[in-house]
Amino acid sequence: MPADIPGIHHVTAIGSDPAENLAFYTETLGLRLVKQSVNQDDVSVYHLFYGDYGGSPGTSMTFFPYPDAAPGQVGRGQATTVQFLVPDGAIDYWVGRLESEGVDVDDPHDRFGDTVVPFRDPDGLPLELVGRADAPAGDPPEGPVPAEHAIRGFFGVTLSLVDPHSTATLLEAMGFEETTSDGGRQRYEADGDLGYVVDLHEDPEAPRGRPGAGTVHHVAFQVTQENQAEWREVLIDHGLRPTEIIDRKWFESVYARTDGGVLFEYATKEPGYTVDEEIEHLGERLVLPEWLEDRRGEIEAGLPPLTAAD
Ligand code: ZN
Repeated sequence: MPADIPGIHHVTAIGSDPAENLAFYTETLGLRLVKQSVNQDDVSVYHLFYGDYGGSPGTSMTFFPYPDAAPGQVGRGQATTVQFLVPDGAIDYWVGRLESEGVDVDDPHDRFGDTVVPFRDPDGLPLELVGRADAPAGDPPEGPVPAEHAIRGFFGVTLSLVDPHSTATLLEAMGFEETTSDGGRQRYEADGDLGYVVDLHEDPEAPRGRPGAGTVHHVAFQVTQENQAEWREVLIDHGLRPTEIIDRKWFESVYARTDGGVLFEYATKEPGYTVDEEIEHLGERLVLPEWLEDRRGEIEAGLPPLTAAD
């Protein structure tokens, strides 16, 4: 078996207005835009990557913001909630911040001993802040959120499933262990310090998930170039049909639709977002993989502005 997976690499979701998406994740949540590119499978649409200062694995939330996207349905067969990790002492700051920014936020509640703050992004994507005393210091960007309160990266995701069994078996093969469970929620944890939680929510009554704005497209787990091919074999052994290894420029990826319906990706830590931009200048300009560079003029002309029209 290849070495265990430490946790999530990135999560990719579908949005609508790209300028609104950018403003929410950078100005409201204080993440850094670490890469501004296009969806390699549909170059008329941005691919925006947010993260910590360097866009470390375990911190990067990415979006395909389709300006005319219809709202999706959050539901079974999807990652229904994305959880960000903050220091436990930052919860009051965040509740105040989200309320004052007009964010759709719920009161904090306890889950498995942690304080959880549910809220939604402008497209209705369900997000949560999870406060933990053991949140790593991380590498937060300079910005509107003081470093002591900054989002450190992912805590985890919740998957809504009719039957969690085969997803649980796959997570166990990936090195996750069941640590606790309650009320239809089984928690699986990996060894990393970011993005190490996957909650399986058995919820056959949930509406069927439908892709669209405000829904998660896929969850990517962190592998190495050394063991990616082995992980592909593990997926085949679990009866899944993984893609070939696809070069995504900043990482290499294998995708597989799990039995529960959620699309998993296995993305390499290498080479990372600094392979084509200096760390000081990440995200400042549209970057394209070299195989799209000769279409830059056409691609730029087809993209909407990233700043909100006043
Ligand atoms: Zn991905």
